[in-house]
Amino acid sequence: MLITGGAGFIGSNFVHYQRQMHPADLIVNLDLLTYAGNKNNLTDLKHDPSHIFVQGNINNRELVAYLIEQYHIDAIVNFAAESHVDRSILHPEIFVETNVKGTLALLHEAHRHDIKLLQISTDEVYGSLGPTGYFTEDSPLQPNSPYAASKASADMLVRSYFETYGTHVNITRSTNNFGPYQFPEKLIPLMITRGLDGEKLPIYGDGKNIRDWLYVRDNCRGIDLVLREGKTGQIYNIGAHNEYDNNTIVQLIVKQLGLPESQITYVKDRPGHDRRYAIDPTKILDELGWRPESNFRTGLDETFGWYAVHQDWWQPLKDKMIRK
Ligand code: NAD
Repeated sequence: MLITGGAGFIGSNFVHYQRQMHPADLIVNLDLLTYAGNKNNLTDLKHDPSHIFVQGNINNRELVAYLIEQYHIDAIVNFAAESHVDRSILHPEIFVETNVKGTLALLHEAHRHDIKLLQISTDEVYGSLGPTGYFTEDSPLQPNSPYAASKASADMLVRSYFETYGTHVNITRSTNNFGPYQFPEKLIPLMITRGLDGEKLPIYGDGKNIRDWLYVRDNCRGIDLVLREGKTGQIYNIGAHNEYDNNTIVQLIVKQLGLPESQITYVKDRPGHDRRYAIDPTKILDELGWRPESNFRTGLDETFGWYAVHQDWWQPLKDKMIRK
């Protein structure tokens, strides 16, 4: 399979999951190595002959076509993206370039070679919820940030390739992931790494924005199931009903690290900050038998442990952050 964005957070976790669960499969990993891509996420696969790393852009159609033909690829899993909402507010253009045009390039090559494309999308395409209710796969797309809008646009293109050409496509829309190898600009690793460094823990607005959290390995299992057993053309939400507001997440981190509450600070809210995301995962539960294996607390404990012993991994990344 061709995994794009496999040097990023979820992509590298997925590559490891594949090597462990399906060791006979060959993986070609195409990643541009932007600020978010990190070859150190794949160090243990350096000498693995079944993992071929290629530095390149998903917008390079000749390269994508060459890889598909050279390695007899029969499925593409597209993790490659610009993924940080704050960056999309500052520089939306690159989000269109990678998330929209890049997905179109992959769709084109998947269609031309008659192979499957699994698009990794997000619950953010649905917009924001009130205090009750859940998004299903049929909820309208109402993206509110340039990041979410670019992901929703890509999803629309994926749909159109299925409807127009019958391309073998699927989409997964997961909730917020957390776990090892997550770039420290995202909420949970941001707070853990700043906490470990004795820095202030900045919470946007009143901290009451709610996210539905998913341990990354559970997402990888869901993606793998959709890849192998998903019905062509179908979308699957992936989430584990772990709704917590940002205040609660930061409190848990403060407690775990034994920090004083005075380290928490409130900063000006992000513009267009969605209030609540929560998804209904009934479809993947019923149709594909997916179940999350981690509960939120065990996943968080594993994440604490990983960041505590991998300071050499995250310390150098702090220079690449926009929110210091
Ligand atoms: P990430 O930012 O950690 O990784 C993205 C990877 O894509 C990086 O390795 C980067 O180098 C690579 N990349 C960027 N532009 C590229 C290009 N033009 N060509 C090739 N490679 C390129 O992102 P992530 O958090 O692992 O997210 C992966 C996917 O999952 C994204 O599509 C994101 O929208 C989606 N998603 C993420 C979350 C989450 O909580 N992190 C939740 C739901 C969905």
